[in-house]
Amino acid sequence: MSEATETIFSKIIRREIPADIVYEDNLALAFKDVHPQAPVHILVIPKKPIPTLADAESQDHALLGHLLLTAKRVAEVAGLKSGYRVVINTGDDGGQTVYHLHLHILGGRQLDWPPG
Ligand code: AMP
Repeated sequence: MSEATETIFSKIIRREIPADIVYEDNLALAFKDVHPQAPVHILVIPKKPIPTLADAESQDHALLGHLLLTAKRVAEVAGLKSGYRVVINTGDDGGQTVYHLHLHILGGRQLDWPPG
Protein backbone atom coordinates (compact mmCIF):
# COMPACT_ATOMS: atom_id res chain seq x y z
CA MET A 1 0.00 0.00 0.00
CA SER A 2 1.44 3.35 -1.07
CA GLU A 3 1.22 6.50 1.03
CA ALA A 4 -1.28 9.13 -0.14
CA THR A 5 1.25 11.86 -0.84
CA GLU A 6 1.17 15.26 -2.43
CA THR A 7 1.90 15.07 -6.16
CA ILE A 8 2.02 17.44 -9.09
CA PHE A 9 -1.54 16.32 -9.91
CA SER A 10 -2.76 17.63 -6.52
CA LYS A 11 -1.36 21.01 -7.55
CA ILE A 12 -3.19 20.81 -10.90
CA ILE A 13 -6.48 20.02 -9.08
CA ARG A 14 -5.95 23.10 -6.87
CA ARG A 15 -4.96 25.22 -9.92
CA GLU A 16 -1.57 25.93 -8.35
CA ILE A 17 0.19 24.96 -11.59
CA PRO A 18 -1.23 25.31 -15.10
CA ALA A 19 -2.69 22.45 -17.12
CA ASP A 20 -4.74 22.20 -20.28
CA ILE A 21 -7.95 21.00 -18.60
CA VAL A 22 -10.52 19.46 -20.94
CA TYR A 23 -13.10 18.17 -18.43
CA GLU A 24 -13.97 18.59 -14.76
CA ASP A 25 -16.72 17.47 -12.40
CA ASN A 26 -16.95 17.03 -8.65
CA LEU A 27 -15.08 13.70 -8.71
CA ALA A 28 -12.69 13.85 -11.67
CA LEU A 29 -10.45 16.05 -13.77
CA ALA A 30 -9.08 15.46 -17.28
CA PHE A 31 -6.18 17.35 -18.81
CA LYS A 32 -3.72 17.00 -21.68
CA ASP A 33 -0.50 15.12 -20.94
CA VAL A 34 2.45 17.52 -21.01
CA HIS A 35 4.60 14.94 -22.90
CA PRO A 36 2.11 13.43 -25.36
CA GLN A 37 2.86 9.94 -26.69
CA ALA A 38 0.15 10.12 -29.37
CA PRO A 39 -1.73 12.91 -31.20
CA VAL A 40 -4.33 12.71 -28.43
CA HIS A 41 -2.97 12.00 -24.94
CA ILE A 42 -5.24 12.98 -22.07
CA LEU A 43 -5.07 12.01 -18.40
CA VAL A 44 -8.18 11.37 -16.32
CA ILE A 45 -7.65 11.55 -12.57
CA PRO A 46 -9.84 11.29 -9.48
CA LYS A 47 -9.83 14.34 -7.23
CA LYS A 48 -9.43 11.88 -4.36
CA PRO A 49 -5.67 11.25 -4.06
CA ILE A 50 -5.53 7.46 -4.51
CA PRO A 51 -1.82 6.78 -5.20
CA THR A 52 -2.15 3.71 -7.44
CA LEU A 53 -4.81 1.32 -8.71
CA ALA A 54 -3.41 -1.17 -6.18
CA ASP A 55 -4.47 1.23 -3.41
CA ALA A 56 -8.10 1.43 -4.55
CA GLU A 57 -10.57 -0.14 -2.12
CA SER A 58 -14.07 -1.54 -2.44
CA GLN A 59 -15.47 1.81 -1.32
CA ASP A 60 -13.94 3.29 -4.48
CA HIS A 61 -15.89 1.08 -6.87
CA ALA A 62 -18.30 3.80 -8.00
CA LEU A 63 -15.43 6.26 -8.41
CA LEU A 64 -13.48 3.79 -10.56
CA GLY A 65 -16.53 3.27 -12.77
CA HIS A 66 -16.95 7.03 -13.02
CA LEU A 67 -13.33 7.41 -14.16
CA LEU A 68 -13.82 4.84 -16.94
CA LEU A 69 -17.03 6.50 -18.12
CA THR A 70 -15.28 9.87 -17.97
CA ALA A 71 -12.50 8.44 -20.15
CA LYS A 72 -15.13 7.28 -22.65
CA ARG A 73 -16.77 10.70 -22.77
CA VAL A 74 -13.46 12.56 -23.03
CA ALA A 75 -12.42 10.25 -25.91
CA GLU A 76 -15.71 10.97 -27.68
CA VAL A 77 -15.28 14.73 -27.29
CA ALA A 78 -11.69 14.40 -28.54
CA GLY A 79 -13.08 12.83 -31.71
CA LEU A 80 -11.43 9.42 -31.32
CA LYS A 81 -13.97 7.71 -33.58
CA SER A 82 -11.71 4.88 -34.77
CA GLY A 83 -10.60 3.81 -31.31
CA TYR A 84 -8.19 4.58 -28.53
CA ARG A 85 -6.36 2.96 -25.62
CA VAL A 86 -6.88 3.48 -21.89
CA VAL A 87 -3.83 2.68 -19.76
CA ILE A 88 -3.31 2.64 -16.00
CA ASN A 89 0.38 2.27 -15.20
CA THR A 90 0.57 0.81 -11.70
CA GLY A 91 3.61 0.86 -9.45
CA ASP A 92 7.29 0.70 -10.35
CA ASP A 93 7.09 -2.33 -12.66
CA GLY A 94 4.05 -0.76 -14.34
CA GLY A 95 6.10 2.32 -15.19
CA GLN A 96 4.12 4.68 -12.96
CA THR A 97 5.93 7.95 -12.32
CA VAL A 98 3.22 10.10 -10.72
CA TYR A 99 1.69 8.45 -7.65
CA HIS A 100 -1.82 9.82 -8.07
CA LEU A 101 -4.06 7.33 -9.90
CA HIS A 102 -4.56 8.32 -13.53
CA LEU A 103 -5.96 6.86 -16.73
CA HIS A 104 -4.06 7.63 -19.91
CA ILE A 105 -6.28 8.06 -22.99
CA LEU A 106 -4.13 7.57 -26.08
CA GLY A 107 -5.37 7.90 -29.64
CA GLY A 108 -5.17 9.59 -33.00
CA ARG A 109 -2.78 7.02 -34.48
CA GLN A 110 -2.49 3.24 -34.78
CA LEU A 111 -1.06 2.05 -31.46
CA ASP A 112 1.39 -0.85 -31.19
CA TRP A 113 0.82 -3.98 -29.14
CA PRO A 114 2.32 -5.31 -26.95
CA PRO A 115 3.63 -2.21 -25.16
CA GLY A 116 7.27 -2.26 -24.08
P1 AMP B 1 2.76 7.61 -15.47
O1 AMP B 1 4.15 7.38 -16.01
O2 AMP B 1 1.76 6.56 -15.88
O3 AMP B 1 2.78 7.85 -13.98
O4 AMP B 1 2.24 8.92 -16.18
C1 AMP B 1 2.45 10.19 -15.68
C2 AMP B 1 2.15 11.13 -16.81
O5 AMP B 1 2.00 12.42 -16.28
C3 AMP B 1 3.26 11.20 -17.87
O6 AMP B 1 2.74 10.83 -19.13
C4 AMP B 1 3.68 12.66 -17.83
O7 AMP B 1 4.01 13.17 -19.09
C5 AMP B 1 2.46 13.33 -17.24
N1 AMP B 1 2.71 14.58 -16.55
C6 AMP B 1 3.63 14.83 -15.61
N2 AMP B 1 3.54 16.10 -15.17
C7 AMP B 1 2.52 16.67 -15.87
C8 AMP B 1 1.92 17.96 -15.88
N3 AMP B 1 2.38 18.95 -15.09
N4 AMP B 1 0.90 18.19 -16.74
C9 AMP B 1 0.44 17.21 -17.53
N5 AMP B 1 0.96 15.96 -17.56
C10 AMP B 1 1.98 15.69 -16.74
